[in-house]
Amino acid sequence: MTTPFDYAPAPESRSIVDIKPSYGLFINGEFVDGHGKSFKTISPATEEVLAEVAEADDADVDAAVKAARRAYDRVWSRMPGRERAKYLYRIARIIQERSRELAVLESIDNGKPIKESRDVDIPIVAAHFFYYAGWADKLEYAGRGADPRPLGVAGQIIPWNFPLLMLAWKIAPALACGNTVVLKPAETTPLTALLFAEICQQADLPPGVVNIITGAGGTGQALVAHPGIDKVAFTGSTDVGKAIARTVAGTDKKVTLELGGKAANIVFDDAPLDQAVEGIVTGIFFNQGHVCCAGSRLLVQESIADELLAKLKRRMSTLRVGDPLDKNTDVGAINSAEQLARIRELSDIGEAEGAGRWSPECVLPQHGFWFPPTIFTGVTQAHRIAREEIFGPVLSVLTFRTPAEAVEKANNTPYGLSAGIWTEKGSRILKIASQLRAGVVWANTFNKFDPTSPFGGYKESGYGREGGRHGLEAYLR
Ligand code: NAP
Ligand code: MG
Repeated sequence: MTTPFDYAPAPESRSIVDIKPSYGLFINGEFVDGHGKSFKTISPATEEVLAEVAEADDADVDAAVKAARRAYDRVWSRMPGRERAKYLYRIARIIQERSRELAVLESIDNGKPIKESRDVDIPIVAAHFFYYAGWADKLEYAGRGADPRPLGVAGQIIPWNFPLLMLAWKIAPALACGNTVVLKPAETTPLTALLFAEICQQADLPPGVVNIITGAGGTGQALVAHPGIDKVAFTGSTDVGKAIARTVAGTDKKVTLELGGKAANIVFDDAPLDQAVEGIVTGIFFNQGHVCCAGSRLLVQESIADELLAKLKRRMSTLRVGDPLDKNTDVGAINSAEQLARIRELSDIGEAEGAGRWSPECVLPQHGFWFPPTIFTGVTQAHRIAREEIFGPVLSVLTFRTPAEAVEKANNTPYGLSAGIWTEKGSRILKIASQLRAGVVWANTFNKFDPTSPFGGYKESGYGREGGRHGLEAYLR
């Protein structure tokens, strides 16, 4: 087995970010004190407390929704699309200008490697604002009639795994279509959303068009239940998604849900194996596996399983786990103690149910939340690690003999968000892709995102699409 190449530490400086000791809520264009308590956000890599953040209570949620309604009625819904576009372009350019600051802050608050926040998250965030800025004055071509109208006020709730990227997926299309928003970031990762609020001020966005209210699940619940919102856009777990669907049932609120996944990454015997290994690694170890569309079930054709697994283990031995701000880090910190406990629990269950567990040797830092890249072999479809979303750097490996068996196993899940196919044959890609019940199917690549391309799930992975022209439909009548 190869040993990892030793790199000298190459930490990105944190001096570019200015984290305040405490943050209020961003309502009607200003930062205001909340009426509720406050909570702490920490760095998952060190457990250091970064800031105190206000927890919005019912009165704060109400104030934010009212501010969004005023801005909708008086300004934003009346503004011509070409004028709205100017604000979105301005926001996109400021994001690019402040990209290093955003990337460092995202890595500190979330634990993801700077390599990813700098080269993946933030560039795609800017791209989303640029892309939807381009649509703002062309909505009559969106496929919703000659004069499509916005919905009104959108209540948006996002998870912690891609804090700023999920914010962009929600806010950019909503604003382009003429809606105003109240957004709640996740409890463990509020800081980049609050920096985004400053960017809205810097862009002179009219007050109330974007409101950011921090808090935990209760704040999200109050937002969803508020009678003043016209639309709920939620990204998060399937359980909370179901609760939200129950809350809005019987009202005329529109809903889109982007929920969990348990994607199959299918490798056929004719696949270019070294490329496939890179795709498997990206599929499950990118962002510590905290990815809804992660390729968490590897389906490998039996005849090449041994060779592929040997290559995969060799590659995993070169992954560097540690300081998210080090430019050489491949796998950062697990986002919270709670998430770490869940990953540990499901991994222990995998072992107890008889699957073979393997991780490369790696020294984990003493403080913070860490889990080594892990694979389970000999997994069967009945194993819980083959059925439940682990949302961590843990891969379940299953084998198949025929293409039909691969499709059957891939579709044998309550989820249907994404899938991957690795083969040299174009015809096989097309045939298998058409048989998979998944919103996104990657071929000979994995975890690639682009603002022009729609994203979303089938079955318990949710409904509605974000991204592309389809993403506009969620915000137009
Ligand atoms: P989560 O527990 O469902 O939380 C998501 C958001 O909802 C957070 O802001 C959370 O606040 C809030 N929330 C919690 N309870 C709520 C309630 N009863 N009513 C309204 N809002 C509530 O999910 P998570 O653990 O943060 O995120 C991981 C999940 O997100 C995974 O299942 C993953 O697959 C999914 N995900 C899906 C996509 C996609 O596009 N399909 C993308 C990314 C992630 P707190 O932070 O305070 O809990
Ligand atoms: Mg945090």
